[in-house]
Amino acid sequence: MTRRKWALWLLAGIFLLTAAGCGPKEPETPAVEADKTADVVVIGGGGAGLAAAVSAAENGASVILLEKAAVLGGNTLVSGGVMNAVDPERQKNVPMNDALLNELKELAQRDESEFGDFAPAFVTLKQQINEYLESGDTSVLFDSIELHMVHTYLGGTRTDLQGNTISPEYELIEILCNNALGAIEWLEGYGQEFSDTIGTVLGALWPRTHSTGGGRAYIETLSAAAEDLGVEILLETAGKELITEDGRVVGVKATAADGSELIIRANSGVVLATGGYGENPEMRAEYNTYWPEMPLTMPSTNVSTVTGDGIIMAQQVGADLVGMGFIQLMPSSDPETGVLFNGLWGSAETQVFVNKQGKRFVNEYAERDVLAKAALEQEDGLFFIICDAQIAGDRNLDALIEAEDVIKADTLEELAEKLGIPADDFVAEIEKYNSYVDAQHDPDFGKPNFGNYKVEVGPFYATPRSPSVHHTMGGVKIDTLARVISTEGQPIPGLYAAGEVCGGIHAGNRLGGNAITDILVFGRIAGESAATKK
Ligand SMILES: Cc1cc2nc3c(=O)[nH]c(=O)nc-3n(C[C@H](O)[C@H](O)[C@H](O)COP(=O)(O)OP(=O)(O)OC[C@H]3O[C@@H](n4cnc5c(N)ncnc54)[C@H](O)[C@@H]3O)c2cc1C
Repeated sequence: MTRRKWALWLLAGIFLLTAAGCGPKEPETPAVEADKTADVVVIGGGGAGLAAAVSAAENGASVILLEKAAVLGGNTLVSGGVMNAVDPERQKNVPMNDALLNELKELAQRDESEFGDFAPAFVTLKQQINEYLESGDTSVLFDSIELHMVHTYLGGTRTDLQGNTISPEYELIEILCNNALGAIEWLEGYGQEFSDTIGTVLGALWPRTHSTGGGRAYIETLSAAAEDLGVEILLETAGKELITEDGRVVGVKATAADGSELIIRANSGVVLATGGYGENPEMRAEYNTYWPEMPLTMPSTNVSTVTGDGIIMAQQVGADLVGMGFIQLMPSSDPETGVLFNGLWGSAETQVFVNKQGKRFVNEYAERDVLAKAALEQEDGLFFIICDAQIAGDRNLDALIEAEDVIKADTLEELAEKLGIPADDFVAEIEKYNSYVDAQHDPDFGKPNFGNYKVEVGPFYATPRSPSVHHTMGGVKIDTLARVISTEGQPIPGLYAAGEVCGGIHAGNRLGGNAITDILVFGRIAGESAATKK
């Protein structure tokens, strides 16, 4: 055979094999050339993103994490870091009190038809409560996974101004509550420490809130774990657009610190963990359907980089959004700046709120939207959190007092004078409140837990507060594997999400302390799902 004939045969052979589907496959290289490649790419380096990155790496994936800011952490870093989990070991140190016992009895009287999709959890809970009451020993706090689920349902079921009612998604909440303690144990495995003291963060509805010394602890623990596991972290790198091939998300276009474009390819999956849109006033105004007003100028408690980027990117590839109209206002924020932690208060059961008339106006143990609504109805939308020396303890408050963030006085009368509120009414109100603590019953507003704490030991303190934007409950729709769901109701191949970028978990109003639980539980799931291409 001549050399020319041999070449023709070879070409014909290649053509036939290719036509028969046996030839070389479509090249696996991306349509656009990648600057970097990993199995899993995580967009956003707050608590959810870091949890996803660590979990993906634990599952054998190579991981690149992009963070828009110059530091890791997002809202998680600046958060109080308190989280809810049913934890029999630590909660056995919490005594039951009469007010909570009454609340439990009242709950058990309710009908399962009031609990929608959560009826199965309520039916189990009812049995648990009855067994607890019949046991004859109600000295230690009652709690259960089902009570946490039911609280999340009751706290999150809301109707907006257009008459749309939303509830947390049952299957997601089942996962959230069942895996909360596991998330704590996971972090303890990486060396993080949690206090043995259980409290109730504002709007948590029950004493199951754990503390770990602030949000920074999660970021330190998880970033150290990520480093040990070889996660590559790119700071000052903002995800801009998801890259798709044949309907699958295969990477992200990003902007690096120097303004150049980076193409990062993901062999297995991309995890969105960019947080909420609390610092995007236009987006808040566009979507809000819950508050009569959402002024562009309303301050927020959030860090500046949390601007809804992940929601926008997901929408561009067909993701469905859920609950976008529901935005949480934090009732107890600084009236000027919106920041959260420049004040003095204790666990929710100890808190007493008075308005400019020196009067209480709400059950201080209620959900945050209830508190924020009530606060906005007060003169100037302003109220004061009143504390005494028992709450202050040995905290050094000099800087806060100097800055007039906290007002201190030796007597209640003097405190009223400094606040410019009527002293007689204020003192009478505090005395009345203290009598309710003795009676374990609040006929005015039905506060269900006082922790046996009265405002009675001077010096006394007041912190001025007003609502500000805190948490955006709506976001991309996910399933139980943290896969992002399209508007057609199907998982978008290659795309996962966790944390405040998601909707459907907290629905209309998030319980205080449930966000950190959420970002850890679903961050871990998203990382594993992306690594294993679920
Ligand atoms: C002041 C404050 C106190 C709080 N305290 C509590 C508390 O005690 N308990 C509780 O349960 N909840 C609390 N919350 C709510 C909770 O902290 C947040 O809901 C949670 O931390 C959100 O975690 P995340 O990982 O989803 O988002 P974040 O922690 O906000 O992280 C998102 C990250 O994504 C980055 N990012 C955004 N866009 C891009 C992009 N395009 N490319 C790359 N990166 C991007 C951001 O810079 C940020 O670092 C608090 C919130 C605030 C603001």
